[in-house]
Amino acid sequence: MKTDYDVIVVGAGPGGSFAAKNAAKGGASVLLIDRRKELGAPVRCGEGLGSHWLKELGLKLSPKAISAEISGSVLYSPDMKRAVKIQNPETKGYVIDRKVFDKDLAIDAGRAGADVIVKTEVYDVIKKDGKPCGVKACSMGERLEATCKVLIAADGGESTVARMAGMNSTATLYDTDFGIEYEMVNVECEDLIEIYFSRNAAPRGYVWVFPKGKDVANVGVGIGGLEKGNAVEYLDKFIKNNERFKDAQTVAIKGGLIPVGEPLKELVADGLMVVGTAAHQVDPIHGGGMALAMEAGGMAGEVAAKCALEGKTDRKHLFEYESRWRKRVEPKLMRRLRLRKVLEKLDDGDFNAIFKYLNDNDIDRLIKGDYKPVVEKVLLKRPQLLKVLSALI
Ligand SMILES: Cc1cc2nc3c(=O)[nH]c(=O)nc-3n(C[C@H](O)[C@H](O)[C@H](O)COP(=O)(O)OP(=O)(O)OC[C@H]3O[C@@H](n4cnc5c(N)ncnc54)[C@H](O)[C@@H]3O)c2cc1C
Repeated sequence: MKTDYDVIVVGAGPGGSFAAKNAAKGGASVLLIDRRKELGAPVRCGEGLGSHWLKELGLKLSPKAISAEISGSVLYSPDMKRAVKIQNPETKGYVIDRKVFDKDLAIDAGRAGADVIVKTEVYDVIKKDGKPCGVKACSMGERLEATCKVLIAADGGESTVARMAGMNSTATLYDTDFGIEYEMVNVECEDLIEIYFSRNAAPRGYVWVFPKGKDVANVGVGIGGLEKGNAVEYLDKFIKNNERFKDAQTVAIKGGLIPVGEPLKELVADGLMVVGTAAHQVDPIHGGGMALAMEAGGMAGEVAAKCALEGKTDRKHLFEYESRWRKRVEPKLMRRLRLRKVLEKLDDGDFNAIFKYLNDNDIDRLIKGDYKPVVEKVLLKRPQLLKVLSALI
């Protein structure tokens, strides 16, 4: 096997496979490494993906990667007295099958020319004069060393590669959500993503039901780090207290950590780039990160190939990825983070009251980051929230 590459990407999730594909398309020699023997498995995801992303990312889903088509979302108040349904062209999407999807993306990277190896765990980063220039890995029980000009860390929420390369990439516990999800059968579903807000049911998080078919769904909960209890207890309680799940059977258990605070302060260093959940490029409101990882991976792969082929792989040149990402994506995420920080301060009484006044247009505005008119509407009815909500204006 070849052991010297222009670009090595660690992690064949959506971010890493996109980075590898784009770097290979840019003419670089690329190695994509993953520790899993089957990409995408075990699943650690609700598997929801908005269809507008397909166009933005130039992506086509294979029919096998689609579990269900979604027309919109429905949001429930904590007391379940009010449900707001949002259905418009922008709320369309899919619940996908990550085991198929992740493999499809790695296949695309392989077709673009990247070498792909699975069941290969990177345990150290090789450095020269402090600059990353390769990896040490355990591949099917054998030691493997490979060198590169640019190393891309796309190793997800429990990322270690950036840290091994010398960059501080840890998320604080407070800004990490703990997610757990059961794939269940005998759960009647419409083609809607269901979201349940409640401090009692999911402190600093939410409960979701994502349909994977007419009677199969991913039923999950995410709770904020440092909250009392654990996510499994919250999920079991939600299911037990809901008549709808009386015949439901769990056929898979999925879960994982989601960094929902600020993106990393640095996304590049000499010879190094960090993308996807490893870089905390996750939507702070719903914890979705597949599309953001692919978007960042695409940019990183392009820049990595260009820099590697020009022999200019210092921080200054790799920074093109970071500046593009910070200009195009970061402002949206920071606006969403502001909303999250406000929502974290509301209790169930506030949520119930707010739900009474909001309609689908208001929720749509919130999703699009147009906070002011919604805040004004809520404050007319609930002026005591002025201090908390003023952070959004
Ligand atoms: C419970 C839960 C529900 C979620 N629901 C959704 C959702 O509905 N929609 C959505 O968009 N996002 C969701 N997310 C987030 C989403 O799963 C991630 O944001 C997304 O997978 C990020 O892609 P990535 O490529 O950055 O990392 P990952 O998909 O995590 O891929 C990282 C890859 O790196 C590999 N790896 C790690 N360390 C090493 C190593 N040392 N050596 C070799 N390989 C390594 C792993 O095996 C893995 O394949 C959810 C997350 C959780 C935990």
